[in-house]
Amino acid sequence: MMLGASEIRAIAESLDFKPAKALGQNFVIDANVCRKIVRLAGVVSTDVAVEIGPGLGSLTLGLLEEAASVIAVEIDSRLAGQLAITVASHSDRLAHLTVINQDALTLTQLPVPPTVLVANLPYNVSVPVLLHFLEIFPSLRSGVVMVQAEVADRLAAKPSTKEYGIPTVKAAWWSQMSLVGSVSRSVFWPAPNVDSKLVGFVRRQAPADESLRPIVFAAIDCAFAQRRKMLRSAMSGWLGGSEVAVEVLTRAGIDPTLRGEVLVIEDYCAIADAITQMGIEF
Ligand code: SAM
Repeated sequence: MMLGASEIRAIAESLDFKPAKALGQNFVIDANVCRKIVRLAGVVSTDVAVEIGPGLGSLTLGLLEEAASVIAVEIDSRLAGQLAITVASHSDRLAHLTVINQDALTLTQLPVPPTVLVANLPYNVSVPVLLHFLEIFPSLRSGVVMVQAEVADRLAAKPSTKEYGIPTVKAAWWSQMSLVGSVSRSVFWPAPNVDSKLVGFVRRQAPADESLRPIVFAAIDCAFAQRRKMLRSAMSGWLGGSEVAVEVLTRAGIDPTLRGEVLVIEDYCAIADAITQMGIEF
């Protein structure tokens, strides 16, 4: 059985629980939205689903109906403690649930490698936590996350748009992201000030060796720190002068007068390759 608005409020009241804005605690009170998220994520009976921020358990119950098991990572100890009680009283799938009371940003291992990530992410850490999980758990094949509409647009943006930026290009190292739905603010308790969207991702083969990633990510940070500038000047401080920057970019096959917002992840890999070949050290 899924949770509706009255069950959510009743559980919160029984705990004397007041949602904390700082932890992005906006709970979904519409069971159909949870079912839709699980369906869009394509969760199957062999999946080990990991959920970041299960909150009061609305999405967790939906995941337990489909997945072989669910690992729920919740920072708030009162919510983490309540989750098994809620699951036990609303389903017969308690044995398939593992609750981990920890900050998802500092998590580095799970008892079983997860295959799918499904979460209504806490808005204040949505991008770092998503990138962290893609990095730490290569077993994650795909997923669907709910994030603030503006963040969703950034994750799934195309080059040369104003939404295209650091999160877009870094996320593209691990995965292909796309917008898969939108969610009205009225399905949350308490209702947030912004609308939300659903972002789907499918893991791709990394565009270069993992050892190159620190330089690739530093190049992305550098290019977007001054996104209105041509790459040769945006990168000159970092690379030790505009002449070196021009040489790096030329070697990488990239016109030095372009801006960082037109490049895709493979271009940043070519830049990192050129930097390595030229023996530039930081
Ligand atoms: N999944 C629930 C739902 O859809 O109703 C709750 C989603 S709510 C937007 C975000 C949840 O993430 C909250 O339960 C909050 O306590 C939890 N949270 C916030 N920061 C976290 C972190 N760094 N690590 C793990 N959980 C976190």
